[in-house]
Amino acid sequence: MNQDILVAGAGPAGLALALQAHDHGAVVRVVDRRPEAVRPSRALILHPRTLEVLRPLGVTQALLARADTAPAADLRLGSRVVRITFGNLALPDTAFPHLSLVRQMDVERVLAQALADRGVKVERGTELASVRQEPKGVRAVLRSPAGTEEAWFGFAAGCDGPASTVRAQAGLEWTGRPYPVEIVLADAELDGDLPGDAAQVVAGREGLLFAFRLGERATWRLLGTRPATSERLVPGTFGSSVPDADLQALIDAAGLDARVTGLVWSARVGVQRRVAGRFRRGRLFLAGDAAHAYSPATGQGMNAAIQDAANLGWKLAFAAARPGGHGPLLDSYDRERRPVARQILAMTNLVFWAEAGTGPVPSAFRGRLAPLAAPILPALVSRRRLVAAGIRLVSQLGVSYRGSPLSVEGTPRRRGGPRAGDRLPDRLVTAAGQDIRLHGLLARPGVHVLLDRDADGLEGLAPGRLVHVHRLTSVPGRGLIAVRPDGYVGFRGGTAEVGQLATWLTRIGVTG
Ligand SMILES: Cc1cc2nc3c(=O)[nH]c(=O)nc-3n(C[C@H](O)[C@H](O)[C@H](O)COP(=O)(O)OP(=O)(O)OC[C@H]3O[C@@H](n4cnc5c(N)ncnc54)[C@H](O)[C@@H]3O)c2cc1C
Repeated sequence: MNQDILVAGAGPAGLALALQAHDHGAVVRVVDRRPEAVRPSRALILHPRTLEVLRPLGVTQALLARADTAPAADLRLGSRVVRITFGNLALPDTAFPHLSLVRQMDVERVLAQALADRGVKVERGTELASVRQEPKGVRAVLRSPAGTEEAWFGFAAGCDGPASTVRAQAGLEWTGRPYPVEIVLADAELDGDLPGDAAQVVAGREGLLFAFRLGERATWRLLGTRPATSERLVPGTFGSSVPDADLQALIDAAGLDARVTGLVWSARVGVQRRVAGRFRRGRLFLAGDAAHAYSPATGQGMNAAIQDAANLGWKLAFAAARPGGHGPLLDSYDRERRPVARQILAMTNLVFWAEAGTGPVPSAFRGRLAPLAAPILPALVSRRRLVAAGIRLVSQLGVSYRGSPLSVEGTPRRRGGPRAGDRLPDRLVTAAGQDIRLHGLLARPGVHVLLDRDADGLEGLAPGRLVHVHRLTSVPGRGLIAVRPDGYVGFRGGTAEVGQLATWLTRIGVTG
């Protein structure tokens, strides 16, 4: 065996997965067929939950340093402009109560740098040509300018985007269809009276137009939708550019008062809605766009990719460290993430239909109904709790894995607080005589065991590099909660009984 895990694809999913697996003890190899590290960004929005799952990997400060953490958007409906702000949201149970506007390019840079700091270099210009699982592991054929190589791994993670080689070679279904809509992305200079402190969002009769002051090759990044043409676009890749006149037509149709003075870069992008039939076949796994493809509505793809990665990386690392007997651990990935993918698909499909659908109903909705509703919008968006509830929904803060084989309620049952499978909310606690936010206390790789104030000590359980024990003196009771590396409660009990905890730790492939 050459290495524990082959990560095919160095987009957000592959980079985050490699980083988390490495920090949980695995030897990883990351390959990407693209020779260059940098490509134009598609995603621009990072959700609070995504920052939370990345926090133990030590990259959130670098990401926040590159992000606008109080973004605002001017929603233009007919003649009315409604400003919505996404900073300082009423989300008290997270350390990141805001949306973050950050380029996908910067997210990838930060993750790749974190890997490089750990001595893991992404092998660019190296393509996974084929992959096959055999009893002793995964056999991969890798092709690069240096030649063709055969290598063996414990597992392969297909983070190789919508046209995934791993998915095809695993024979997994890819159910869904393309949208009859295409997206035009452009970096341009604009002449017009556009405020620079807020993204401009126009829901016009013809479709949607976004203008962000976040261009990579010019001041403005534009994203517009229009009916698909006959040119076949391959989802996940950038299609042909558009002429200046096409971009101006999109702007005019939206009713935005701006003139294109310089179109520096543009691409047409195809979009589709699909979910793989399974996210795992034996030793082969899918994450990110290889597992699901959504419309860009509500900014889900990159966030879901990173959250898949945070669910899978530690599991593969723990499984690689203890060959055999890790059935429930590895089964849990598909059981946990595929239902989430289906929910996101339903949500993005509905929102995309409303904001970009080309049929008479969505067009009338945008052209007539939305402007009629516009007068009540300022009152709605001024209600912080309502906006926060919307962000909680779209950012997967409410995701729970209660039905997972890894979610175990001990006996006697612990009362109150998050249940096994729920996300551990952030809040102020006292530990080792210090008042500290819980997620700050847990901000390092591994499993964290939280003992209530009066819980018995865990005799016989030796905390190791990847099992940390904390006593929360501000939490009355005699029980405990064990938190997985991705921040979900895995086990909880009304008493601190070592036997039950040890059984759960063995189930997830780690020992104290
Ligand atoms: C217009 C647009 C706007 C978007 N906006 C947002 C947003 O605001 N927020 C958000 O969360 N998401 C957004 N998305 C979605 C987001 O860009 C993707 O979901 C995200 O890039 C998925 O990451 P990934 O790592 O799964 O796949 P990718 O980023 O596609 O990376 C896959 C990588 O695998 C490599 N690869 C492929 N095949 C092989 C092979 N055989 N061997 C080796 N390497 C291979 C590719 O070169 C590529 O680098 C948007 C998408 C579009 C189109």
